[in-house]
Amino acid sequence: MSPPSNLGNFKDGSESAAGENYADINWDNYELGFYLVPTDYMYVMKCAKGDKFSQGSIVPYGNIEISPSAGILNYGQGLFEGLKAYRTEDGRILLFRPDENAQRMKRGADRLCMPSPSNDQFVNAVKQIVLANKRWVPPSGKGSLYVRPLLMGTGASLGVGPAPEYTFLIYCSPVGSYHKGALNFKVEDKLYRAISGSGGTGGIKSVTNYAPVYTAMTEAKANGFSDVLFLDSATGKYIEEATACNVFVVKDNSIFTPEIDGTILPGITRKSIIEIAIDLGYQWRKMLGADEMFCTGTAMVVNSVASVTYKETRVDYKTGPEALSAKLRATLVGIQTGCVEDKKSWTVLVD
Ligand SMILES: *Cc1c(COP(=O)(O)O)cnc(C)c1O
Repeated sequence: MSPPSNLGNFKDGSESAAGENYADINWDNYELGFYLVPTDYMYVMKCAKGDKFSQGSIVPYGNIEISPSAGILNYGQGLFEGLKAYRTEDGRILLFRPDENAQRMKRGADRLCMPSPSNDQFVNAVKQIVLANKRWVPPSGKGSLYVRPLLMGTGASLGVGPAPEYTFLIYCSPVGSYHKGALNFKVEDKLYRAISGSGGTGGIKSVTNYAPVYTAMTEAKANGFSDVLFLDSATGKYIEEATACNVFVVKDNSIFTPEIDGTILPGITRKSIIEIAIDLGYQWRKMLGADEMFCTGTAMVVNSVASVTYKETRVDYKTGPEALSAKLRATLVGIQTGCVEDKKSWTVLVD
């Protein structure tokens, strides 16, 4: 299925030197943050319980109608994903490892008893929705188009159990930077993000993992912190990750990040950063003290951590252009935006 044919004819579109249409945002002077800017289209594909997803369509972006007794509303049967489309200097549009998002959604769907789109369906749908919203992909260097796939039980069911119908939906929004500057974390010592061991849902992007930690996050923010760091719920001793990003520490020539054990979300940025750091000659260790700390996620890419506060004790870390995180970020963003050669074939051209 091809995107709508009227994409070049938006009345408010501005034309670049290359004849490319852009949405009516002042891309040069407008510092995009990480919040929703609605675009023109979304992608919707439905499937009944026990069936396979087959045919989706691109429809105008807008509210959706679902039954009050939909599985997602009543019992949290839902997953989300997040990935970005970048425009390169020469005008191509690149996705970063979208097959990884497809596989992660499939693992989550299996855990939450939902059918999931195949890898090809997922990646093709992402490509289609990016093309349909092409005028919202920021010019090179001005941000990216954040793509948000959802998989949810939308069929009505009063009793507890898998919903009779499922919806795979993708919407997107142009975004800029997630955080401005290095982060100051507070270690959360009362609430936990995930159940210890592999029996919980900490390792999937289940919608149910986020609202339960809003109180901790909101309180930390009210006290001037950027976000919270969660501890493992078995011992309360080991750092796991933040609300929506993985964390790393750096000591001399080694990097450390918690292992994927069911409680940590297996971040695609995390996985990519481990490879880049190893290529740069760093060793990946199980445990160590730290000179530097940083966190990773699609939304923020790589962000340095300035401090961590546990009860009354604050530890400060190295930040700024000399930090390893700055080098890792530059390399990864370089690959994502087509400025650094993609030797690992991580990017996917949208055409
Ligand atoms: C999405 C997410 C991450 C980051 O994963 P990426 O694939 O790098 O975007 C890390 N932790 C949590 C809890 C997340 O939801």
